[in-house]
Amino acid sequence: MSNQPPLKTLLPWHESPDPREALRQSDPTVFDIIERERRRQQDHIELIASENYVSEAVLAAMGSVFTNKYAEGLPGARYYGGCEFADQIEQLAIDRAKQLFGAEHANVQPHAGSPANEAAYMAVLKPGDRVLGMKLDHGGHLSHGARFNVSGKTYEFHAYGVERETEMLNYDTIRELALEVRPRMILVGASAYPRKIEFEPLRAIADEVDAILMMDMAHIAGLVAAKLHPDPVPYCDLVTSTTHKTLRGARGGLILSKAELARKVDKAVFPGLQGGPLLHQIAGKAVAFGEALRPEFTAYAQAIIDNMQAMADELKANGLRLVSGGTDNHLVLVDVTPFGIGGGVAEDALGRAGITVNKNLLPYDERKPNDPSGIRLGSPAMTTRGLGVEEFRQMTRWMVEILRAPEDQELGRRIAGEVKAMLTDFPVPA
Ligand SMILES: *Cc1c(COP(=O)(O)O)cnc(C)c1O
Repeated sequence: MSNQPPLKTLLPWHESPDPREALRQSDPTVFDIIERERRRQQDHIELIASENYVSEAVLAAMGSVFTNKYAEGLPGARYYGGCEFADQIEQLAIDRAKQLFGAEHANVQPHAGSPANEAAYMAVLKPGDRVLGMKLDHGGHLSHGARFNVSGKTYEFHAYGVERETEMLNYDTIRELALEVRPRMILVGASAYPRKIEFEPLRAIADEVDAILMMDMAHIAGLVAAKLHPDPVPYCDLVTSTTHKTLRGARGGLILSKAELARKVDKAVFPGLQGGPLLHQIAGKAVAFGEALRPEFTAYAQAIIDNMQAMADELKANGLRLVSGGTDNHLVLVDVTPFGIGGGVAEDALGRAGITVNKNLLPYDERKPNDPSGIRLGSPAMTTRGLGVEEFRQMTRWMVEILRAPEDQELGRRIAGEVKAMLTDFPVPA
């Protein structure tokens, strides 16, 4: 032992109790890039509907020594020694997830939303099985059977979309398709659907055709947790989610299921799809589930919806068309073509003014994906920073000004300055 060099000479080692200071000393290049990202986040309005800011507590758990630990298996049944605290943290995350969503079973190991879906399919489907899911260009997700995604290569996906006139789901149409396709699974959930999804009619359709019903609530999990969106858990055999969108947790995935599917789900995640769980990420999920269990989270979720309503009203008052005419949740799809531009130009012009959004295909879009007819706007991130209805109206007025004159560089610079000034009162947790 005495011949061993001290640890300090083996590792970049710091006396500072502050991990950020340790990084600054050890690797100023990485530190500098992170600081620039921190500034970008502070100075920009973030309206990407899938993004959010985690709390300092979640950040600390994510940056913890649990990143050092291997723990293949499940709490109490691991393939590695030294898992007593790994067991505690994962069991806590499982218990909190079950409590938060009233679920019979939870697996908190999926590394992200897409692997959660992949594992959920693997738990109940055989390669080649038919699945009926939502069209990608009507708001579905890549992992719902896109032909270039592993889901689309493994299973036979068929798609339903929204109605042309209402731009909403029609459960009668889905039923007709289900009777025709006879899928093994009906999959619901979307990345760009501004309306409520109803689970009672979907359960009835699934029962009629003897299909498994699965909901991917990645976008709306926070609203479901706060009981501000119809609850999929009582009706669906499987519910998958990300943990980092409206749920405001560590970046990751989650699978909830009925008790009778528990073993199949767990085995599909490990060893079916993944190796060792990311315990630092699971620690972050545990913290976030704890935060979502507090009464303040319900107020947060209500504010997400109120803020988005204010933005939707202001957009409509200024002559923009919203897909389905409005929103029930945290996002809107805005048709920008009435202003004589496409979503690509809109995204760039707003970006120059410090407002981050994403261009988005609209249902039945006749333009190309690289410059579609729309943009998608979401309220979760800016609501986390404490902005309210007044600020959402102001942000909307800035957006409308820019969309009316997307080439006006001077206007972009002026608004970028105003954005930055407003945001000094609303710090990013860091
Ligand atoms: C975001 C999203 C996912 C995927 O999540 P990743 O963590 O990016 O893999 C899955 N399904 C839906 C509906 C989503 O919106």
